[in-house]
Amino acid sequence: MSKFPAGVVYGQQLIDLYEDAKANGYALPGVNAVGTSTVNAIMETAAKVESPVIVQLSFGGGQFFAGKSLENGNFEASAAGCISAALHVHQVAEMYGVPVILHTDHCSLKNIEWIDRLLDYQESYYERYGKPLFSSHMLDLSEESIEENIDVCAKYLERMSKLEIGLEIELGITGGEEDGVDNSDVDVSKLYTHPSEVFYAYERLSAINPNFTVAAAFGNVHGVYKPGNVKLSVEILKNSQNYVADQIDKTGTKPVSFVFHGGSGSSQDDIRKSIEYGVIKMNLDTDMQWAFSAGVRDYYAQYNEYVATQIGNPDGDDLPNKKYYDPRKVLRQAEEYFVTRLEESFADLNCIGRNK
Ligand SMILES: [Zn+2]
Repeated sequence: MSKFPAGVVYGQQLIDLYEDAKANGYALPGVNAVGTSTVNAIMETAAKVESPVIVQLSFGGGQFFAGKSLENGNFEASAAGCISAALHVHQVAEMYGVPVILHTDHCSLKNIEWIDRLLDYQESYYERYGKPLFSSHMLDLSEESIEENIDVCAKYLERMSKLEIGLEIELGITGGEEDGVDNSDVDVSKLYTHPSEVFYAYERLSAINPNFTVAAAFGNVHGVYKPGNVKLSVEILKNSQNYVADQIDKTGTKPVSFVFHGGSGSSQDDIRKSIEYGVIKMNLDTDMQWAFSAGVRDYYAQYNEYVATQIGNPDGDDLPNKKYYDPRKVLRQAEEYFVTRLEESFADLNCIGRNK
C-alpha cells in the first residue's frame, strides 16, 4: 500500500508530503530535466527506490524542451516547453507508479512573464480538469529588496492558491552560476539569509496559504568547485527555524519547509544536518548533468570503432553499425548513468522507500 498515490501531486497532498518528509527526516531530490530522456530517467529512479520525486524545469530547460530553434523573445518557448514536459509527466507518471511533484526552477523579475504564461494556461486547464499542471513554481526575487520580494511573492501565491499550486521563494542569493545567471561575484553578506527575513516572509505568506517553501541562502553555490571554496553555514537554517518557531509560539517545531539549492558537491554531514533543520527538498542539476554526459562519453569511448563508419567494424569489414549508432543506444546509456547517480542522491537524502 503506497502512502501517496502515483501521478502528479498538488494542493493539500503536496503540503502533506513535505510535512511527512520533515516528520520522518528525509528530503526529496528536485531534479532538473531538459527532455524526455531526463524526465523519464528521474521517474525510473523514483520507481526503483519507491519514493516520490520532484521533476523541475528551468527557464532554459523549458526552452530546450520546446526546441532551441524557436523564438523565445516573449518567453513563449520556455512556457511551451514547460507545458509540454508537464503534459508528458501527467501522461506517464502513473505508469511509473510514482508520485511526482512538477516544479519550475528560478524565475527572476525580468522573466516573470514566463510564469504569467504558465499561470494563464493553467487557469483554463484547471477550469477544465479541476487540477493544475504544475505542483509548484519558484519565484527568485532575491535581487530585489525583501519587501519587494515578498510583495510580489504574496501576489503570486494568492493567484496560485486558487489553482492549488505551491510557491517556492528565495531569500538571500545562491552563489555561483546556473542557467546563464551568474552570481559568482555578489556581495558575500547577501549569500547568507537572516532569521528575521525568514520570519518576515513566513508571516506574510502563511496568512495567504501554507503551500510555500523557502530557499534560504546559507553560503550555498550553484555548480561544483574545488573543495574549500564553499563556506556552507547550515546553522543559518537551524537559527531561522528556531526563530520562526519562537515567534509563533511553537518552540521546538519546524514550521518552515526549506529548500537546499546548490547541493552538488556538498558533504554528507551538511546534507544530513540541513534535513534535520527542515530541508525537505534538495536541488540536483550539476551532478546529474555530469552523470548524463559521462554516459555519452563512455559510450563513444567503448564503441569508438563501431561508430566511426556506417559499415565495417573490428568484427568484419562489411558489417553494418546501425545498432551501435542508433541514438537510442547512447541516450539509454546516458539515462542509465543518470539513474545510478540519482539513486545515490536518494540515499544521501534518506529518501529510500518513502512511498511504501
Ligand atoms: Zn537554484
